[in-house]
Amino acid sequence: MSIDFTGRTVIVTGAGGGLGRAYALDIARRGGNVVVNDLGGNVAGDGGTSEMADKVVDEIRAAGGNAVANYASVATAEGGQAIARTALDSFGRIDALINNAGNLRNFWFDEFSDADRDSVMATHLLGTWNVTKAVWPHMKQAGYGRIVFTASAVAAFGNQTQSAYGAAKGGIIGLMNVLAQEGLPHNILCNGLLPNADSRMGSEMKPEEMAPVFPHIMKIGPDTIVPAYVVAPVVYMASEACTTTHDLYSVMGRRVARAFVGVTEGWINPAPAPATAEDIAANIETIRDQTRGVHIPASLIDEFRIVGEQFEALRET
Ligand code: NAD
Repeated sequence: MSIDFTGRTVIVTGAGGGLGRAYALDIARRGGNVVVNDLGGNVAGDGGTSEMADKVVDEIRAAGGNAVANYASVATAEGGQAIARTALDSFGRIDALINNAGNLRNFWFDEFSDADRDSVMATHLLGTWNVTKAVWPHMKQAGYGRIVFTASAVAAFGNQTQSAYGAAKGGIIGLMNVLAQEGLPHNILCNGLLPNADSRMGSEMKPEEMAPVFPHIMKIGPDTIVPAYVVAPVVYMASEACTTTHDLYSVMGRRVARAFVGVTEGWINPAPAPATAEDIAANIETIRDQTRGVHIPASLIDEFRIVGEQFEALRET
């Protein structure tokens, strides 16, 4: 099956460099009209210039593709609206959105200023909210949409000095979980991404944080922890060929895997009454035990269904 974007319009936020640029180039090569959004600031998200987005647009046009630049910040509602408007004014439609723009500010939690926290939250969490909010009604009306939510292993698994970033990216996973359900009846498919790449942001990680990672990267292949290896799953998620929604994909070099929040079989208090803290202490290993299987609820309601079935099975035995 060949994946073609002819006639489709895709917005890629933060596409002036790193991962976003790589997505934009591949989608344009496949015939898509691309909105290359980038504020053009530094890695902390300060400053701004049209140069980064313009350069990628020039690259796409030089290769015979269609692209238009947008320099708005995703961090405001007006910025989100302006990005959607650029797509509609230039190409008349919005088929996919790749929420990718991001900045990086790492500090130990007790040294994190409110201003740095707010900048990270505004760029990642509100940025994703703002642009998604702006494209949503158009996708709903069209009965078609594909949205990629860029999260991070920092949110899914944790990494020290990245409290604001982890909190913001965790919020993005929560937003994806909800919008996947709201979007499904309208054929708007929402999937999340945990990328890893030696981009500008990746190279800004503190050396002391990265040192423990290097031996593992050597085994995976240092030349594969680069944007080119993240392109395929993201372009798939943004395409008509995508059949999944509500999924989170982790990309590390040549390995692409599904990441999820699972729930163990757990421990059911045999007494028809609230357990005591002592009961929890006594049963903590059963509560944590993954060997009896892990459930992956598709929604809050689905978790009720799963636990309801566990109780039913218990009654039958
Ligand atoms: P990058 O710094 O190369 O790219 C981010 C881009 O976003 C930059 O071009 C920047 O100018 C732009 N940007 C920043 N603030 C913006 C704003 N307010 N409005 C519009 N554009 C803005 O970094 P990257 O590694 O390519 O990151 C892309 C995404 O992937 C980010 O969301 C990042 O958090 C995520 N991510 C990256 C890694 C990694 O290993 N590189 C890991 C996990 C998640």
